Amino acid sequence: MTGLIMDYPLTTNTILNYANSAFPDKKLISYLPDGSRHEYSYGQLYKRCCQLANALKNKLGITKGDMVGTFAWNHYQHVELYYGIPGIGAICHTINIRLSSQQTEFIINHSEDKVIFVDATLVPLLEKIAPKLETVEKYIIINAPKGFTTNLPNIIHYEDLIGEQLETIDWPAIYENDASGMCYTSGTTGMPKGVLYSHRSTYLHAMTILSPNAGNYNNNDIILLVVPQFHVMAWGFPYMCLLSGSDMVMPSLHLRPDAIIRILESEKVNKANGVPSIWRGVYEEMKKNPPKNKLALEEYLVGGSALSASLIENFEKDFGIKGVQAWGMTETSPLGTASRLQKKHKNLSEKEQIKIRAKQGIEFPGIEMRIIGDDGEVAPRDGKTMGELQVKGAWVIKSYFKTNSRDSFTKDGWFRTGDVSTIDADGYMEITDRTKDLIKSGGEWISSVALELALMSHSKIKEAAVIAIPDKKWSERPLATLVLADENDPVSTEELKEFLAKDFANYQIPDNYVTINQVPKTSVGKFDKKEIRRLYAEGKL
Ligand code: ADP
Repeated sequence: MTGLIMDYPLTTNTILNYANSAFPDKKLISYLPDGSRHEYSYGQLYKRCCQLANALKNKLGITKGDMVGTFAWNHYQHVELYYGIPGIGAICHTINIRLSSQQTEFIINHSEDKVIFVDATLVPLLEKIAPKLETVEKYIIINAPKGFTTNLPNIIHYEDLIGEQLETIDWPAIYENDASGMCYTSGTTGMPKGVLYSHRSTYLHAMTILSPNAGNYNNNDIILLVVPQFHVMAWGFPYMCLLSGSDMVMPSLHLRPDAIIRILESEKVNKANGVPSIWRGVYEEMKKNPPKNKLALEEYLVGGSALSASLIENFEKDFGIKGVQAWGMTETSPLGTASRLQKKHKNLSEKEQIKIRAKQGIEFPGIEMRIIGDDGEVAPRDGKTMGELQVKGAWVIKSYFKTNSRDSFTKDGWFRTGDVSTIDADGYMEITDRTKDLIKSGGEWISSVALELALMSHSKIKEAAVIAIPDKKWSERPLATLVLADENDPVSTEELKEFLAKDFANYQIPDNYVTINQVPKTSVGKFDKKEIRRLYAEGKL
């Protein structure tokens, strides 16, 4: 017997319609690439999304199932694209602007983008590869300054495209399982792979991240989206903000710590998201130049790589600002877990509480997770047994886009994350490494992440990245590459070994340490271990 409840499709249109009805006065504020500030309401956003959707149909001939690329910073036009494109059944494909030319060309040809919306400041990156793009018919230029020229063919300016279109539309019927968006992985461990989101997965993910055990957002919040819209749909925040009625603040290319602090101050932002390297930078800047007035910022949500216990502790101690760790992947829309304390943790010491908050946390409703140990069995939830993290759920991929995905799934239908983790008795998951970064020394596993986090809690060390290097006796040993907090204040190998001996067994402590100027980073700001391994192999470390 089926239930007697309406068949109400969960689509991006239902999100947009809802905000237009419930929160028409809430604000979308953008700091545009030219430094100017732009503000309008969700009611105005609705009208411009209708104009864009009409233009896509009437002027560009975009129809259901077409792939439409975006190559842009975080700002209001990009939010309009997040709704206007899927609103007519096309797919909003956000292209990562920080990938190599070769990867960008591959992604655009592989996804078969018909049109690309591109920020004027990013046009030079596309000009280089445009002759090799096989399917792109038109380029729509956003935020072009006066006198703008380009050798891209078939360009239209964004405002000219949508200008004369109607501010209303009869949205077409869309099934909730239709594709709404696409994002390629950032290629940390190989060539980027396409992940195709559905309307339903986008809706459910956005509803979940606003809930109390996740981000806990509501219409009192003013949220700064530091995570780029070209990286996993800005973690779903442009959808979540319209559902929670939170004001949304977009920084476009103003991502230096001092610029972020200025935006936090002027907009009285109280919540934000971003990868750890951004928040470490903001913290260091605030230590150097403390803001005159206490910031309104209460909490920053972090994912993408590990938020260390030391950053959680210092940010809170020095400025009263709380870091919340979340975990996710492009393949999981992205958010799958978050680490917040529960009532039962109330009486623990501060140190013990921070230890829990530095874990990746418990899964959201709609997501399941398990650890598979070396023996192929589900590992006990003892906080010690490491194994591969596998997940399934309502916003986890079941296959990559046009790519053989067999190796990424188990026979019983779980997605293999490639992360190595533990889960403790309370259900808190902790990432110890990625399968490709684990170090196997004398038959024992060593976690590079645990060593990095420990080294980065040393006052003389700003950044630390640990890789495995071949070793005749032990097969592999860890090599620690270090960036000093102050280059005139070196730290000795003996001091580091002694420091690590507090928390690590002898065999886990690296014998080799190399000081470098900066840790190479990937397109989304993670430590690029592929690059560090290459430098080592070429004798450049
Ligand atoms: P890529 O896989 O190309 O790096 P993603 O952005 O999808 O691109 O990265 C997902 C990976 O990032 C996860 O599999 C995990 O290794 C890492 N990650 C994400 N969040 C965290 C976190 N809070 N702590 C540690 N690692 C994380």
